[in-house]
Amino acid sequence: MPYAVPKLTDYSPAALEKAANECISACQAEAAEVRSDSDLKSLRDRWMARKNGILTQINDLWLKGAPKEAKRDAGMRVNELKVRITELVDAAHVTSGGDAAAESVDISLPGIRRPIGAEHPIIKTMNEIVGVFQKLGYSVAEGPVVETDYYNFEALNFPPNHPARDTQDTLFIANQQSKPQRERLLLRTHTSPVQIHTMETMRPPIRIVIPGKVHRNDPPDASHSPMFHQIEGLAVDTNITFGDLKGTLDHAMKSLFGSNVKTHFRPSFFPFTEPSAELYVSCFICGGSGKRGADNAPCRPCKQTGWIEVLGCGMVDPNVFEFVKDNGYDPKKVSGFAFGMGVDRLALLKYGVDDIQLFFQGDVRFLEQWA
Ligand SMILES: [Zn+2]
Repeated sequence: MPYAVPKLTDYSPAALEKAANECISACQAEAAEVRSDSDLKSLRDRWMARKNGILTQINDLWLKGAPKEAKRDAGMRVNELKVRITELVDAAHVTSGGDAAAESVDISLPGIRRPIGAEHPIIKTMNEIVGVFQKLGYSVAEGPVVETDYYNFEALNFPPNHPARDTQDTLFIANQQSKPQRERLLLRTHTSPVQIHTMETMRPPIRIVIPGKVHRNDPPDASHSPMFHQIEGLAVDTNITFGDLKGTLDHAMKSLFGSNVKTHFRPSFFPFTEPSAELYVSCFICGGSGKRGADNAPCRPCKQTGWIEVLGCGMVDPNVFEFVKDNGYDPKKVSGFAFGMGVDRLALLKYGVDDIQLFFQGDVRFLEQWA
């Protein structure tokens, strides 16, 4: 039975409400059955037509027939109903039938497969190195990429005229000539400033590794990039010796490159460590022979020496502790060691890539190989 507007005899609020709800339900049901453009037109005509449309009938039957005392309430109710019916008719649209089926999702269809990303080879290498030290009880510290001269150089015992401060090596933020040198901002050239930040906030003993991006004024080529990655480590406690440094790094290199590798330290110089050394591992590509394959081809990664330089390290210079002395780092009471390595270079060796630029060009075909 199609909906027909009833004559009202009871004008109580409850009765008006009931009549209005019946009308709305009827309109909703009819709107859901629209299958064609002509159905849509019929729906509109039936409900909205000025001459004898359902809204007009309601107006006539409910409002004009209302007793005087109920007219005001009935008028408000009818106006609300007109708004609601107009919305329903305006929103009605042609559906293909079976209203629920037309709107629902067909769960038997295969879904849209989105490619899953993977760790970038640099990040992967970084996480591996950090993981080795985390197992030794080190925690991870991070710091800002934009640093002041104070943290990047001065507090790390770089003398005022050290060539590293030169704009040929360091990328400075522009227009800071009016500032005192120690406050000038630059892109950090190493992760070492985080050592100072950490010692300012944490009292000894500490064991931290610091992974991060660093920048230098190097034009890009196969082995240089103005942006690259370092991992730095710092251990400070009472009675830390060079023996602890050697033992820790030997263990770390065996974890990273295999238990067969040998380690070897050569004297070096860094402003913030004394004594300082470079750590070499026996070439994990040729096994230390300097030759590769059956035809004894020269091993390029180790330049036929059988050794690969992996990192710089040393005992923290007491002058560095002087900058954070007030937080418990009295150079007479504590000692420590620090080390820093270039992640990108290790990733090049590890994955046999011969151009560092490939890591940063974002070519998915290149990156997919390590996914
Ligand atoms: Zn080699």
